[in-house]
Amino acid sequence: MMPEIRAARVVSRFATLFDKMPAMFEVLYGSVDRLVEFWSAMANAPQYLQSKLRHVRDHQRNFHPMTLFGDGVASYALGKAWSKTVNVWTFSCLTKSPAHQGFRGLLAQMLITMCHKNDCVAKFNANTHKAIYKVLKWSLQALYDGIWPLLRPDNSPWPASSDEQGRAGKLLAGGKRGVVWHINFDLDWAFESLGLPRWNSRSPCAKCGVTIATVSDIRSPAPWIDSVYDHDKFVRANLATCPLFSVTDITVETLKGDWLHSKHQGTDSYLFGGTLSGNPII
Ligand SMILES: [Zn+2]
Repeated sequence: MMPEIRAARVVSRFATLFDKMPAMFEVLYGSVDRLVEFWSAMANAPQYLQSKLRHVRDHQRNFHPMTLFGDGVASYALGKAWSKTVNVWTFSCLTKSPAHQGFRGLLAQMLITMCHKNDCVAKFNANTHKAIYKVLKWSLQALYDGIWPLLRPDNSPWPASSDEQGRAGKLLAGGKRGVVWHINFDLDWAFESLGLPRWNSRSPCAKCGVTIATVSDIRSPAPWIDSVYDHDKFVRANLATCPLFSVTDITVETLKGDWLHSKHQGTDSYLFGGTLSGNPII
């Protein structure tokens, strides 16, 4: 029950802050000026050009670009063989107030839900994991539509005379909407939670057809460069198995990875170190 309550808060927080605390809504989700600035900067980005939202009237003033982050966090006996991991899903807005960017942005990071890894990701289709993504999908689609959902995540009706029943089918936040523009994750999360290829598999990339045999070919043009996926190719490659990919405008372009985990502390340091020392390692 807990995952359902927490994930649904993605919707209720958006609506409640807009109604009751408009100044805080602007801090956490961004002002109209920041939205216009953001969408202007996106004008030539492939993700924007392929999106459905760009056909929505006044989308530059109403769509808040969100980032969804998932990761496993050691919760017990850190560094020990019997260490336990908790999987955590968080959420924030890319156009939040400048005062809440960078480290202070952590204050604007909303905890959606968390559960022990052994309960939810030991098998990709484990029931807890499925339940979390079912509610998350429902929540994110409602945010995208900007309409309070007619039914609960399990398709049952809202309780009679409940606040939710009264709001069903009405605007969520006066026409404001939210789109997931970034999904951030490390390589473990890509495989275990999002159902993307494992980093050390024969075909390790979710975004192109590179194989383990061609991954070190960085000539220009290397043969794999022409195999970069658009969303249709991504779906045809059977990579869109996570329920999040059925939410409008969540596509292969939404997958941004996690630069802190997978870049600066990983391959980049070796690449730059090798280049600067005059002995490229590749
Ligand atoms: Zn690739």
